[in-house]
Amino acid sequence: MSQQLPEFIDPFHQADKRGQLRGHLAVKNLRRLTDILYSNEGDIAVLMIFGKEGKQAFCELSLEGTVCLKCQNCLESIEFKINTMTILGMVNSFEQADKLSDEYEPLLIKDEKVLLNDMIEDELLLLIPVFPKHTHCKFESLSSSSLIRPALNETTVIKENPFAILSNLKKTENNNGSTEK
Ligand SMILES: [Zn+2]
Repeated sequence: MSQQLPEFIDPFHQADKRGQLRGHLAVKNLRRLTDILYSNEGDIAVLMIFGKEGKQAFCELSLEGTVCLKCQNCLESIEFKINTMTILGMVNSFEQADKLSDEYEPLLIKDEKVLLNDMIEDELLLLIPVFPKHTHCKFESLSSSSLIRPALNETTVIKENPFAILSNLKKTENNNGSTEK
């Protein structure tokens, strides 16, 4: 099987034919990560297995690799290992996303063609902290807890990633049916 990932995919079509895509994505092509990368070398192994459960189209997305992040305190490198599998449930609207069962993370699809790079970047941005720091750097100098805190959850909001917001909404709903709102 080719190790070359297509630039665009049609996720619903892939789901219909239960397609599989496998390949590598160069870290240097992940433009939205540039600011927090120490080095843009290396690549991420990508495996996508599409399918349908009843009417629900989904994609099992596995990502594996290491990115070299820049510590936001000492500006030295931090290795960040990625080894994750997410089941994306494809939806056309926020309404559909709301109805999606817990096992899926919503993947909002607006066009037939989806830029694969974008899709993978969205996933990686959910995983990678916006303000990466060495463990030992967390306790040094700056010490303002507000600088340290924006880790995973706020990452998603800061980046205004629609999928992140969707999944946050979903989590809030699922976790605390009645608190706050
Ligand atoms: Zn550091």
